[in-house]
Amino acid sequence: MPPPSRRVVRFVAVALVGCFALAMTRADGPSSGGAPRRGDRFQNNYVEFEPKGLGALVRWKIDASREGLPRPPQQPTPRVAPDLAFLRANAAAGATMVPSVTWIGHATTLVQLGGISLLTDPIFSERASPVSFAGPARHVPPGIALAELPHVDAVVISHNHYDHLDAPSVRALAEQPGGSPLFVVPLGNKAWFASLGIERVVELDWWQSAQVGAVEIVFTPAQHWSGRGLNDRMQTLWGSYAIFAPDFQVWFGGDTAYSQDFADIHRRFAARQNGRGFDLALIPIGAYEPRWFMRAQHVDPAEAVQIHRDLAAERSIGIHWGTFELTDESLDEPPQALARAARQAGLADDAFTVLAVGATRRFAPRATALTSARP
Ligand code: ZN
Ligand code: ZN
Repeated sequence: MPPPSRRVVRFVAVALVGCFALAMTRADGPSSGGAPRRGDRFQNNYVEFEPKGLGALVRWKIDASREGLPRPPQQPTPRVAPDLAFLRANAAAGATMVPSVTWIGHATTLVQLGGISLLTDPIFSERASPVSFAGPARHVPPGIALAELPHVDAVVISHNHYDHLDAPSVRALAEQPGGSPLFVVPLGNKAWFASLGIERVVELDWWQSAQVGAVEIVFTPAQHWSGRGLNDRMQTLWGSYAIFAPDFQVWFGGDTAYSQDFADIHRRFAARQNGRGFDLALIPIGAYEPRWFMRAQHVDPAEAVQIHRDLAAERSIGIHWGTFELTDESLDEPPQALARAARQAGLADDAFTVLAVGATRRFAPRATALTSARP
């Protein structure tokens, strides 16, 4: 056995190598090589995320029931009748399509850009749950019923949690008249789609992309996790999407905590965006209380405002609220907290707002680089 001093030296050396290896894994974040891996699981760029255990879940639920949380909302989630005539005509307009976004509820939006109609994280079911008789129920019906949608060309899925990847909804979309949309999904989800008989699927790692007509869909990082059961945690990837049409650029945040990933995304596309950020960012603003439990997986409205700034987005719309009661804040709190956070950050009044369920916002096309083509 070596003398104690040599053992100490050896221990320190091993510890240093360990720390260095850890620093290496932490520093590999914004690389172009895709999401970090730990064995057969994925990991975030900036945090070694571990989903909270059963003990923490029980503590959260006991605290919540003692404090009577979540309190019922003061007002129902605002809702308007959808402008189906516009959405259908716009879907058929091809190159003259007006860029638009319609909030269907939760993280489900219909985005029309570059001649295609695209859905984000479609859920039309009554519950966000593996079973139809239990689990979080809808507080407001979908802003557009499945049968009323215009033809959907593409669907992006941010990750496989039940409130973002809903089997009956994707099955119905795959069977829409005129044929299945292209499903753009995170790495590891293709087999799940195949098990439903859905084959028009492309799986992406972070920074990989898929093309649909004139629109390029790039899978970008987010700080979150995945899992539909007890044994598949973080075995499929999660993320966000940067969606580039010739005249409109959208970022869809899916589900995320705050991290440096958004500054990375902005840097990555800066040259392509010609000094201007995304025309529109769809950023989650709900499911954030209690912070000790949720901070590592869901942003609060103030952090959502910081994402809007990191991305240098022209406009942002808050999603992932008002539909399913998942956490301790009231269903109607996120837009109020967002308004306060946006004011505190000095944003313009219309820079980061919310829509009523069913409402459509139209956008002016992005100025194209025609001027730079002049001789
Ligand atoms: Zn999630
Ligand atoms: Zn979610």
